[in-house]
Amino acid sequence: MDGMMMHRPLRVADILTFAEEIHADQGIVSSTVEGGMHRLGYADMGARSRKLAKALLALGVGIGDRVATLAWNGYRHMELYYGTPGMGAVCHTINPRLSAEQMAYIVNHADDKVMFLDLTFVPMVERLASQFPGNLIYVIQTDRAHMPDTTLRALCYEELLAAQDDGYDWPDLSEETACGLCYTSGTTGHPKGALYSHRSMVLHALMVGVCMPYCMQPGRKVLPVVPMFHANAWGLAHAAPMAGASLVMPGPHLDGASVFDLMDGEEVFSAWGVPTVWLGLMAEIEKRGRVPAGFGEVVIGGSAAPASMIRFYEDQGVSVCHAWGMTEMSPVGTLGILSPSMQAQPARDRLRLKSSQGRRMFGVDLKIVGEHGTRQPHDGAATGELFVRGSTVVSGYYANEEASAAALDDDGWFGTGDMASISPEGFLTITDRAKDLIKSGGEWISSIDVENMAMAHPDIANCAVIAVPHPKWGERPVLVAVPAVEAPNTDAIMAHLAEHLAKWQLPDDVVYVDELPLTATGKVSKLTLRRQYADHELPGAV
Ligand code: AMP
Repeated sequence: MDGMMMHRPLRVADILTFAEEIHADQGIVSSTVEGGMHRLGYADMGARSRKLAKALLALGVGIGDRVATLAWNGYRHMELYYGTPGMGAVCHTINPRLSAEQMAYIVNHADDKVMFLDLTFVPMVERLASQFPGNLIYVIQTDRAHMPDTTLRALCYEELLAAQDDGYDWPDLSEETACGLCYTSGTTGHPKGALYSHRSMVLHALMVGVCMPYCMQPGRKVLPVVPMFHANAWGLAHAAPMAGASLVMPGPHLDGASVFDLMDGEEVFSAWGVPTVWLGLMAEIEKRGRVPAGFGEVVIGGSAAPASMIRFYEDQGVSVCHAWGMTEMSPVGTLGILSPSMQAQPARDRLRLKSSQGRRMFGVDLKIVGEHGTRQPHDGAATGELFVRGSTVVSGYYANEEASAAALDDDGWFGTGDMASISPEGFLTITDRAKDLIKSGGEWISSIDVENMAMAHPDIANCAVIAVPHPKWGERPVLVAVPAVEAPNTDAIMAHLAEHLAKWQLPDDVVYVDELPLTATGKVSKLTLRRQYADHELPGAV
């Protein structure tokens, strides 16, 4: 027998409508690209987002069309987060740190109709425009006074909004309608698109809100240092307006001193981001001899949070929540929330629990699978590949049959490519990575891509690219190469790689060896190499 309850679709625009009415005294504080601070209440954000939706319609954008953003965290990006899906289109956030090749691929693969870009990215897009679809409409996110001289035939964001009134009713979309698109690096080949639905996005916001009650409450100020172009800013852009928390947006200013000043000035309670950012803030806290005013919680994820970092913040009275997730999971999977009895444990035990990647949110199922496909016990000792399942997990990749076919196992679980153990209390510990990727400062570098490019150079006979621990970036790539000639030309090899890769994706070092270690099946053993070079001194690392 079915229940007899109404079926109202879960829609992203309803979060905004709710915040406009219930949390009108909260909103977005932005450190802007143009300079200076900007404040926007949720009520005004609602009106501006409706104007934006009408402007998109006027530009010919229809339901299901992709609208790209190349933008920092700020209020205009928030309007795009709501206005675009609200009218039925898909908000496609692009990571500006990708290489030119990856970005050109993504824009063409998504077949974006309009691209909204911050002033910062105008020169980059001018260089790339010839590789983008010819009919792409560019909108620069600024006002007339700040419009740059540009070779792009670009519209002005504020003029676009000013031409519309805010009389608009959000259409009644099905909750399965696509609302967001975010590409993530694959181990091989091109980036793959996670295509979120209104339903998954609203559920994810509810889940984050339930799990993070200290920061997700009316009047709290929350700082997403995690970019809105990277996996929905970990759900904050949706969870905060829902809960009535205000968002403090850093714009392009992500160094330790800027983050400190912003947090201090706005009395931010909770700040979310990757370890590299919190390392910068640690240096600033040590320099100034205090934490920013009001700072009570830091959420660290994207890469493993070192125990020393967790101890540092906890010693300063800032509660640390270590989080794990993936773009494919909307992205949050686990959060380091301790029960009261765990909080009462001795500091050493608490640190051990907080150093793990935390426990699953309601709605996310976890399993670990051993080498021969057998499910492993959650005993804290057995390890295996981590698989996940839930309404906020992808079921495949946008317009990519091959990657979609490989994404799920026979029982419909998504393979994360992370190796892990799970304790009886549900604490997840990521022990290694099965996928051949390097994560530097929260951004991916595909080792296989770099290897393929390096192999195309005549001085290299064979090679492997591995992650070597780095104090600031977490990991950096090192190219271990068997030379094809007696005196390989390292500068020429690096110049060759630089033609295809973004600067930060280039190996920090090239090491020449006579041969590479192999596994039993004859593949290069990255594990052996990673162990061998775990203490390798990287040039410039301190
Ligand atoms: P992304 O899709 O770019 O957000 O990357 C997701 C991947 O980042 C995961 O599959 C992990 O490999 C890694 N990752 C994310 N959070 C953590 C964490 N707290 N500890 C270790 N690895 C992490």
